[in-house]
Amino acid sequence: AKEAGRGGYCFFAPEMNQRLQERRALEVDLRNALASGGFRLAFQPQINLEDERIIGAEALLRWERPGVGNVPPDQFIGIAEETGLIGQIGAWAIHEACRQAATWPEPMGVAVNVSPVQFRQPGLCECVTAALEHSGLPASRLELEITEGVLLNDTEETLATLERLRRLGVKIAMDDFGTGYSSLGYLQKFPFDKVKIDRSFVRNLGQDPNAGAIVSAVVGMSRALGVRANAEGVELREQAALLLAQGCEEVQGYFFARPMSGEALRELLAAPVGQ
Ligand code: C2E
Ligand code: CA
Ligand code: CA
Ligand code: CA
Repeated sequence: AKEAGRGGYCFFAPEMNQRLQERRALEVDLRNALASGGFRLAFQPQINLEDERIIGAEALLRWERPGVGNVPPDQFIGIAEETGLIGQIGAWAIHEACRQAATWPEPMGVAVNVSPVQFRQPGLCECVTAALEHSGLPASRLELEITEGVLLNDTEETLATLERLRRLGVKIAMDDFGTGYSSLGYLQKFPFDKVKIDRSFVRNLGQDPNAGAIVSAVVGMSRALGVRANAEGVELREQAALLLAQGCEEVQGYFFARPMSGEALRELLAAPVGQ
């Protein structure tokens, strides 16, 4: 590599160059996946804690990258956001989630993650409207999960979009609650239908008294505000029992069910109760 600045040009260090090339390759593969139907959705059941029945499912992106294998969403959503591809990928996810959810027994709902970048791109409400229309899914059975990243951009426009979605009849959940800086403030600004308590709090339930105190405070506050509480990442029976005792309505986690294919979910839903 040459010295930077002097001659008005600069070579990247080799490792930097390699990373750039990897990112480009990833972008190319993401575009191809979009064009050729390379994405799938997995669905993780959402459980009503009181009777342990499935009341909905969260749609989670899955990508089998050619020559590489399964790439977790955390590893490609960042690039998809930087390149703007998240708009199209997210639109696909909304359409596909609605299409599948329309085949589930009523009133089971589906939750779809919406990235902050996707949220800010124009056309989200139109996309949701079209997906509901094409699938025939009632709007009340679709929930959009947004994170604090959406609300950090605290503009009139953000609130207007949320309100438009709400007017369509779609539900709005605040994802990863408690991991940001001012989650509480956002609850005051917008009437969410649900808060999803981040799995980092659930993980330490029963071990760390502070985690218990935080979860119970969030559940109590949700109740007072008339917002449904969902606890994520429940892996142990004891965690479920503590959450139930604290009045948490809904859970997700490996203890009850892992994310599964749409087919596996339909089989599960068709199985007689108790099996
Ligand atoms: P998230 O929205 O917080 O989703 C929950 C993640 O926790 C999922 O990981 C899920 O498989 C995992 N999980 C569920 N139960 C348990 C448990 O009991 N224990 C543990 N350790 N993990 C559990 P996944 O599918 O790898 O997704 C990771 C993240 O990628 C999601 O976090 C979400 O932020 C993002 N993501 C996934 N699908 C989409 C999508 O369609 N659009 C957007 N924008 N983001 C998505
Ligand atoms: Ca989520
Ligand atoms: Ca989450
Ligand atoms: Ca997350």
